[in-house]
Amino acid sequence: MKFVYSFNEGSKDMRSLLGGKGANLAEMTKIGLPVPFGFTVTTEACNKYYEENKTIADEIVDEIHEKMAELENVTGKKFGDTENPLLVSVRSGSVFSMPGMMDTILNLGLNDETVITLSNLTDNERFAYDSYRRFIQMFGDVVMEIPKSEFDAIFDGQKEKAGAEFDVDLTAEDLKAVIVEYKALVKKFMGREFPQEPGEQLMEAIQAVFRSWNNDRAILYRKLNNISDKLGTAVNVQAMVFGNMGDTSGTGVAFTRNPATGENALFGEFLVNAQGEDVVAGIRTPKPIKEMAVSFPDVYKDFERIADVLEKHYKDMQDMEFTVERNKLYMLQTRAAKRTAVSAVKIAVDMVGEDLISKETAVSRIDPNQIDQLLHPNFDEKAEAEAEVLAKGLPASPGAATGRIYFTASDAEAAVANGEKAILVRQETSPEDLAGMVAAEGILTARGGMTSHAAVVARGMGKCCVAGCSEIAVSESEKTLTIKDDVYKEGDYVSLNGSKGIVYKGEIKTVAPEFSGDFGTVMSWADEIRSLKVRANADNPRDAKQAVEFGAQGIGLCRTEHMFFEEERIPAIRQMIMAETEEERRAALAKLLPFQKSDFKAIYEVMEDKPVTIRLLDPPLHEFLPHTEEDTRELAEQTGISYAKLSQIAEELSEFNPMLGHRGCRLAVTYPEIAEMQTRAIIEAAVEVKQEKGFDIIPEIMIPLVGMESEIADVKATVEKTIGTCLGEYGVEMEYLIGTMIEVPRAALTAGSIAKEAEFFSFGTNDLTQMTFGFSRDDTGKMIKEYMDKGILADDPFQTIDQEGVGSLMEHAVKQGKQTRPNIKLGICGEHGGDPRSIEFCHKIGLHYVSCSPFRVPIARIAAAQAAI
Ligand code: ADP
Ligand code: MG
Ligand code: MG
Repeated sequence: MKFVYSFNEGSKDMRSLLGGKGANLAEMTKIGLPVPFGFTVTTEACNKYYEENKTIADEIVDEIHEKMAELENVTGKKFGDTENPLLVSVRSGSVFSMPGMMDTILNLGLNDETVITLSNLTDNERFAYDSYRRFIQMFGDVVMEIPKSEFDAIFDGQKEKAGAEFDVDLTAEDLKAVIVEYKALVKKFMGREFPQEPGEQLMEAIQAVFRSWNNDRAILYRKLNNISDKLGTAVNVQAMVFGNMGDTSGTGVAFTRNPATGENALFGEFLVNAQGEDVVAGIRTPKPIKEMAVSFPDVYKDFERIADVLEKHYKDMQDMEFTVERNKLYMLQTRAAKRTAVSAVKIAVDMVGEDLISKETAVSRIDPNQIDQLLHPNFDEKAEAEAEVLAKGLPASPGAATGRIYFTASDAEAAVANGEKAILVRQETSPEDLAGMVAAEGILTARGGMTSHAAVVARGMGKCCVAGCSEIAVSESEKTLTIKDDVYKEGDYVSLNGSKGIVYKGEIKTVAPEFSGDFGTVMSWADEIRSLKVRANADNPRDAKQAVEFGAQGIGLCRTEHMFFEEERIPAIRQMIMAETEEERRAALAKLLPFQKSDFKAIYEVMEDKPVTIRLLDPPLHEFLPHTEEDTRELAEQTGISYAKLSQIAEELSEFNPMLGHRGCRLAVTYPEIAEMQTRAIIEAAVEVKQEKGFDIIPEIMIPLVGMESEIADVKATVEKTIGTCLGEYGVEMEYLIGTMIEVPRAALTAGSIAKEAEFFSFGTNDLTQMTFGFSRDDTGKMIKEYMDKGILADDPFQTIDQEGVGSLMEHAVKQGKQTRPNIKLGICGEHGGDPRSIEFCHKIGLHYVSCSPFRVPIARIAAAQAAI
């Protein structure tokens, strides 16, 4: 077995063995780019180090020595030599880039003697001692784990003593003084001298990289990112080149395109007379890469050419590190560059245009979670940078909003009706604020977290929201907003950045999201590629319209109860709940029928020929009752039922475990007249819209929370009988589908028999997850976070489908369902329908569509395409 590879023995396809950095150094060497020579100790050597109780096997040490000899040959230098010493860097490099692991050590091989040689050879004493002090500091920090601050204190002390403003102002003598103190610090901390023997320095450094694989930060990072502990890290040993040799030298980082905008032009920075991390560490202000064309014209030309070679070779935007030593360019790293959503989309489209990549590759390069950034208005970047920050809260719902502040929903509504832009400012929002939230550009609350009413509703509407902003004081009665000592009144301007949770003073220019152009192009490619259909969860015409604009192909879940909460309807629904006889109940339901019917008609009109799945009433009735004494008294007045009686009814209806209580199809079994009314509303709406507009409507009626075949059979009988009566009244025929949600584990387990009744399944994965884990959705948020921190859960199962548990129930249900009814329609309507990883899973198990909130539809379209690639 071979544990060490020279750079000319590897390639980019050997990532898992050589790590990302090593594989790309090898690849650049292979294609003839100027890379200082070196070798990579493999990830397998790291694993062996751990298997053998943190010792390096002799065979690996031997291989390293062989490769060092080869490196000496290639460079014509000798390690530890006092005539022409070889210096190397030791660089960690795992398969996935991992913050928290060991940093790089530069200039290894220097000691009290070779530093003098280096000084003589280069005729540059300052450079030699600068390199040495850097080496001692990096080695002391990463191998000996001496706090960085101790080194910094010594260095800064010397700068002060010498009256130096910048590091480069220190003379060789100053640097020698620093080195003396550094060595004393090492002695004090380690109880031994700084190692002078280069061979010993090298072995210690390599082992330190191996050890850093298992430091706490690295372990935690892997846990959080689902990276296996078994991968191990590689170590790269590379001949040094020097950017700190004076004014003909320098170092820099650059991207082949602009990572913020995607513009096809070199983008980056460089620093003259500097080494390693100086550019990113902000020691001096680096210069834009373009200026290299002036100070290093030949080198710049060379760099441009190499950047182009690299991009064409990897067929992706590259992020590169380079160093110039006395006017000669060396490449030290290349990798696929991180980029913003805007830039990702532009680059993907441009590269297809340049014939560099296929449409499939272009689509696969878009991070679906990033797409969210593109769907909301944003601030003009420059204007935002100049704006005054007033306060910070939680980034509850992304986007940007600017407008005048209003303190009640109705004030906000009225202002908007007058053509103003409004920001609704509340202590915390409640369902009564809905209309004001709809009207406002953005929402700001003083209280509440990421799952507060304001946050959840705003995200659903795709509206910008900063929640839980504890730095502000809101007086709803005085209509004032106080921040520190400043008081803002109704009508004053503020601006909100919901992606960052920032409140700004005054008005900031916003730029609208752009759905055409490159974004539209990528989306159309995604649509060509994917087989999964994408529907939306939408309860009203407004959301339905938004969903269609985002490319939804239907509605996968229309929750009828949301319509019940509206002001004019709540009395009728309460009357229905209070009813003591079937007759009274029917009378109340008759009042609700026209409301429901007109809602459904409006939705059908928006959706035209696209399928719409409407779910029968789902929540426990108790949710519709007033929750405060004041509201109860008001209701008593409205209905003429006594307060005492109302309180008694509320008590009777209240449940210990409402989510497992009298809800879902259980309501339809016990009060069939509710299902009758809703069915009638659905069918009448469908028939009338079909007659009026000619749309080809096939109503899909969904029965929630079914657990048994007999249960769905019972409700289905009610529904079918009503449909028969209805169609008879109109004297028409109409196709329709009756199906169920699969959200009770028993339904998944007995899906084969349930499919005898159900013409479609829609996986309600919120409830299915809740009931499969026995995790209450409303109570376990904090606990789940702790489980994730401890690594007990890799992901929040309410965000991404637990494939092993919940997913296997789904797979079972799909298989059984298809066996009973081969043409059964299969979808998902839980929150997971908008989660890329869950979407991939849905594709894999053969669902026909996913349904998600309107603002996640574009994300789902991309994710569905990626699942198909
Ligand atoms: P990171 O992964 O943190 O970027 P690197 O291993 O890339 O760490 O190295 C950190 C810095 O040191 C980079 O700026 C890199 O260019 C520089 N560097 C690494 N090896 C050498 C070398 N052989 N000669 C000169 N500079 C080097
Ligand atoms: Mg690097
Ligand atoms: Mg449910």
